[in-house]
Amino acid sequence: MVAGIAEKVAKVREEIAEAAAKSGRAASRVKLMGVTKYHSLEAMEEAAPLVDLIGENRVQEAAAKRAAWPPGLTSCPWHMIGRLQKNKIRRAMETFDLIESVDSAGIAAAINRIAGEKCVSAYPVFIEVNVSGEEAKGGLAPEAAPAALGAVLESCPRVEVRGLMTVARDTDDEGELRRIFSALRELREKLRRSSGLPLPELSMGMSGDFRVAIEEGSTIVRIGSAIFGKRNYNNKNTIDKGAE
Ligand SMILES: *Cc1c(COP(=O)(O)O)cnc(C)c1O
Repeated sequence: MVAGIAEKVAKVREEIAEAAAKSGRAASRVKLMGVTKYHSLEAMEEAAPLVDLIGENRVQEAAAKRAAWPPGLTSCPWHMIGRLQKNKIRRAMETFDLIESVDSAGIAAAINRIAGEKCVSAYPVFIEVNVSGEEAKGGLAPEAAPAALGAVLESCPRVEVRGLMTVARDTDDEGELRRIFSALRELREKLRRSSGLPLPELSMGMSGDFRVAIEEGSTIVRIGSAIFGKRNYNNKNTIDKGAE
């Protein structure tokens, strides 16, 4: 047992329900992702039955954890939410059920090619958009998203774009967070019109900002520290064997 995880998940679920109610949405439309990077397999086993999705940032860490997953313990789908290097795409597709961090037509083309080799007819992805415009961040510029989605539709028949993902600015300014999240929602509307795709998923909101994200239409909140506590970046217990 890892103390406190069940209680923390319950508290987050309560806050999700409150934010959904406040904005007239059904809480059942908001999936809870437990973000488990740098946390132990033991903590993950505790959380797995209580969350809807598992999110990891690094291919190698996630692959090691999946390989060590106890047989018989059910697991919800795993999503890749971190920066994706071209040479790790194959491993990422073998490890994750969906990649949320596709941020170039080139990455989509590589996924399409590998899906072809594996006879996968539709590998699901989200497009990551850098709405806040911070330089260090992954994601396409919002202005570049329509053309990128057009290119994926045109030349990547084995890539299924199901939605959009963003990481907001690290700020307590609610107005600014609201602008970022509503901009992603509006971009989704625009892309729906230009592509005809339903794009049902909006992955936005983390421990510090998920209430605002839900009020602005989030369908997936990615929660790490509010469930698992602070990440220890030197954690030797996480079974990540190599530097990435
Ligand atoms: C680490 C991470 C999260 C979770 O962050 P918390 O603030 O701990 O909830 C969510 N999304 C992405 C992309 C992350 O890298």
